[in-house]
Amino acid sequence: MNTAERVRRIKPSPSTAAAQRVRELKSQGLTILDLTVGEPDFDTPDHVKAAAIEAVEAGETKYTPVNGTPRLRAAIAGKLRQRHGLEYTDSRLTVGGGAKQVIFLALMATLDEGDEVIVPAPYWVSYPDMVLANDGTPVIVDCPETEGFKLTPGRLRSSITDRTRWVVLNTPGNPTGAAYTTTELRALAEVLLDHPHVGVLTDEIYDEIWYDDGDQPSLAAVEPRLADRVFLTNGVSKTYAMTGWRLGYGAGPEDLVTAINTLQSQISSCPSSISQAAAAAALTGPQDFVRDTVEVYRARRDTTVKLIGETPGLSCTTASGGFYLLVNCRQFLGRFTPAGGRIESDEDFTRHLLETQQVAVIHGSAYGAPGYFRISFATSTEILTEACARIAAACATLSERPS
Ligand code: PMP
Repeated sequence: MNTAERVRRIKPSPSTAAAQRVRELKSQGLTILDLTVGEPDFDTPDHVKAAAIEAVEAGETKYTPVNGTPRLRAAIAGKLRQRHGLEYTDSRLTVGGGAKQVIFLALMATLDEGDEVIVPAPYWVSYPDMVLANDGTPVIVDCPETEGFKLTPGRLRSSITDRTRWVVLNTPGNPTGAAYTTTELRALAEVLLDHPHVGVLTDEIYDEIWYDDGDQPSLAAVEPRLADRVFLTNGVSKTYAMTGWRLGYGAGPEDLVTAINTLQSQISSCPSSISQAAAAAALTGPQDFVRDTVEVYRARRDTTVKLIGETPGLSCTTASGGFYLLVNCRQFLGRFTPAGGRIESDEDFTRHLLETQQVAVIHGSAYGAPGYFRISFATSTEILTEACARIAAACATLSERPS
């Protein structure tokens, strides 16, 4: 069967590919320390599971409105009001099968061939491919570590053209854990106010997994004058350990939300009614699960940052949110393995970790960050500690000259 051009333009997600490789190696009997995982290692809270079971028993097993059940929409509106003081009426809210699907539909609803989407790098792997799949052109803007891996107003300004439709802002970010402060968002907003044709897609999926003081700000609240062109996306996957439930949401301008709903009405009709009931319970129920898990992530983050910092040749910045660290391994590029192989790239480096020490991480190039690799600390402190020791051992074997 011939596939369409839009499929040939894209590749499967590297994190899914890495997970597959880990599964294969495990099935060969190898013990892999897996730091590739992009999801919480906690179970969904009991009260959320109970809400789903109740929904099944109450017969909530039919199609729902395309833009979600009234209960879920009220829960989302409540969260955005409470957290950011934002007011969203029903016609400005939509839900989908994960934030991933909501973001994809927003791009599908707005991009024509050649439209540009500014994607600050390092980026979540899916943005460029989602843009390509929807006939757009990703404009990758390098945001170096020296600038905190964040888009600066100057870089934003010089990347905007007449064809720019969107700029994507993922905060806190995957894979860096970097997050924009209110001041930084204000400065970006100043640039955007000069370019009324540019929309902003904010991906706030890690907003509650947050370690710094105060709350993580949202652009829509920081600059109300952008309200008619910010599309805020979020979901319950990460905060409530609900990745398998597939439930995300979007809030933004009514015309965009209507277009997304039209697409959704032809694609899936609506997300699962049971997951919607569970998500409503997660958003409106007790939040101690979130507080408790964030403290566990924080301890793991601190341990990992310390251990990486103690490894000669490696360095990383501390994540403000999320559960990833982007580790700089540039010093090892050009070095030689004991077997005589040369480490040419971050991909060679991560292969060396996997093959010699059975530690799985994802190479930075997958995120537009060559010379880096990503560690997920959504795993136990024991695994993280052992993995960091093994990473240090693998680094120590790399020499400047072939042996
Ligand atoms: N955005 C980012 C930055 C992510 O890391 C992920 C999950 N890997 C998503 C969106 C997708 O989340 P969901 O499970 O809601 O589709």
